[in-house]
Amino acid sequence: MLRQAMLALSKSRRAERLVTTSPLTADVVDRYVADDVARVVGALTGEGLLVSVDHLGEEVTDEAAAGQAVAHYLALLDLLPAGADVSVKLTALGLRLSQRLALEHAGAICAAAAQRDLTVTLDAEEHDTIAGLHAVHAALRREHPDVGVVVQSYLPDSLDRCEKLGGARVRLCKGAYTAPGAYTRPADIDRSYVRCLKVLMSGTGYPMVATHDPRLIRIAATLAELAGRDATGFEYQMLYGVRPDEQRRLAGLGARVRVYVPYGSDWYPYLMRRLAERPRNLTFFLRSLLSR
Ligand code: FAD
Repeated sequence: MLRQAMLALSKSRRAERLVTTSPLTADVVDRYVADDVARVVGALTGEGLLVSVDHLGEEVTDEAAAGQAVAHYLALLDLLPAGADVSVKLTALGLRLSQRLALEHAGAICAAAAQRDLTVTLDAEEHDTIAGLHAVHAALRREHPDVGVVVQSYLPDSLDRCEKLGGARVRLCKGAYTAPGAYTRPADIDRSYVRCLKVLMSGTGYPMVATHDPRLIRIAATLAELAGRDATGFEYQMLYGVRPDEQRRLAGLGARVRVYVPYGSDWYPYLMRRLAERPRNLTFFLRSLLSR
């Protein structure tokens, strides 16, 4: 219930105005969103962590705004060290205007990234964008075979998706939105996650295990070992500000760990999704507001 309410608030313009104009939210935003992306990336990579950087923004409604999002990404690529990844939301590149436009824009980012030894991963968003996401991903892969894509295990067809994505870089996550017909019980989402993990680990692609869930992290490690993958054969991914000690612990054991680093002024929907994920996050948010 609380999660649904928070996700509904993430789309409310009124709530957005209220939250974003309050000086009291700064501490919470700083916890999840990089204030200075170059500094944060430098600090994380200096500690042996990998990064995937997201220029926050989604749902553009005109071509000019989509063009601006591309320009932001092209400028961002110049700041990143080799081996970094950028996470891209196709709705920010114009997917809701036209699939062709999103493909063109994502292709420009992939081409610029390849020149700098960087990779691109396409985030998964609302359920009505998933068909377009996979169509654009399939088209991009012809020229950019290392472009990654996200699969959300709360979608019942996620296993089928994973089976069709042979050879690809695939980030597996639980899913941060809502979708008709999606699994809602945590046990069902986790079971689906494990089924997908089995397919990805035993396949020919590169699995990216995006979760903070200790049980799923342990299962991923076991499945990787059973599939004969060494530490370079897959990676863990976690969000900036979430379980930083675990990120460092896994990296200290020799695992590849990539931190998803969001930055930019359009942080409101991202922050609300993070608060929706954990009631404790919400308590932290409210406490930091009340303690002022
Ligand atoms: P949860 O069910 O949220 O948590 C499971 C357990 O993990 C908890 O019980 C707790 O033990 C532990 N845990 C979680 N958070 C904390 C915390 N703050 N402190 C301590 N322990 C904690 N979603 C999309 O829909 N599309 C995307 O493209 C996408 N990209 C993502 C990229 C990355 C790198 C990551 C990590 C997530 C991404 N997500 C994306 C979000 C994802 O779908 C989930 O909403 C989010 O990761 C929360 O799920 P979880 O797997 O961490 O497990």
